[in-house]
Amino acid sequence: MTQVNKERMLAEFKEIVALPCHSLQERPVFELLKGKLEALGFTVEEDDAGEKLGGNCGNMWAFLPASAGIEGAVRVLLSAHMDGVEPCGGTTVIQKDGVLYSDGTTILGGDDKSGVEGILEGIRMLLEEGAPHGDIQILFTVCEEGGVNGSRCLDRSKLRADVGYALDGEGAPGEIVVGAPGQKKYKIDIIGRTAHGGLEPEKGINSIMIAAKALADVKRYGRIDEETTCNIGIIGGGKATNIVPDLVTIEGDARSRNKEKLEAICKEIVETIATSAEKYGAKAEVFVDNKYDSFAVAENSDVVALAKAACAMHGFTPDITVTGGGSDANFLNAYGLPSVILGTGMAHVHTVDEYIKEEDLYNTALMVHGILKAAVK
Ligand SMILES: [Zn+2]
Repeated sequence: MTQVNKERMLAEFKEIVALPCHSLQERPVFELLKGKLEALGFTVEEDDAGEKLGGNCGNMWAFLPASAGIEGAVRVLLSAHMDGVEPCGGTTVIQKDGVLYSDGTTILGGDDKSGVEGILEGIRMLLEEGAPHGDIQILFTVCEEGGVNGSRCLDRSKLRADVGYALDGEGAPGEIVVGAPGQKKYKIDIIGRTAHGGLEPEKGINSIMIAAKALADVKRYGRIDEETTCNIGIIGGGKATNIVPDLVTIEGDARSRNKEKLEAICKEIVETIATSAEKYGAKAEVFVDNKYDSFAVAENSDVVALAKAACAMHGFTPDITVTGGGSDANFLNAYGLPSVILGTGMAHVHTVDEYIKEEDLYNTALMVHGILKAAVK
């Protein structure tokens, strides 16, 4: 029976989360992981995402060719992101009753170093037991937390895999996320005309009053259906109580796992606001940014089958599910690599209360090990 080297895994997890890892400043993490992967026999490359994004580090691509004599194995890509949300880096790990926490001054960094560490240890286990394997590719991305930017800018010519796994989910190992929404952000500037509010208000066009009326014309928002949401999240404008405000900015985002529905609700919201604003006498300027596309992987596809086989091998119950957020898996799928997100057990992420059960950390390595073994059969 394959055993995780728990001591080694825990020590390495602590070593990695102790490093600074701010988005666009992932260099220290990159260098540490590069050394570790080269020691395991991987060839390591870096793409130009760092230059594109103005960071100090690109995405890491590491490759280990199949064992001698192994042909026709499924080529597996394993991915995790190197950055963390603030306050991150320099984490001191507190171990209590089988759970890992930070000391409360930083996040723990299990998002996403549990994925990073699961990949390292899972591969090490496989190599140590001398099991044959197919081609293994690793992608450690930058700036995932800053808007999934590292994978957006990745050098897709480097992709050489048949299936992809982003180890970046909050469920326990066994969770297989087969769908996620796409997201669009929108901003509408409502432009009126400024004037002194006391002396000559009739010369002004009050953009705040018009924004209020235009927003009241929006009939559908919030939960649209089971796979579609939209939101107005920010509104700003006005300078002083005695000035007729000439500019109000309204911002929000829409998400859906269905591409057409996402297009439709986004169009409906911005057009309603813009048309109404013009009807009430202001001008409107609309900006829409496609953040990322949705994905949906078939439950009977190879990528899901291998993850299920790994669950069976190590005694986890597969939990096939969908998520409400974007991740590197959105871009991997958009670039033609069928990919799912795997749960690592990270919990209360993006807060200083973040934690992960030790057992989930170890089981993440077992999932990786199982997938790589199943890829050969
Ligand atoms: Zn993450």
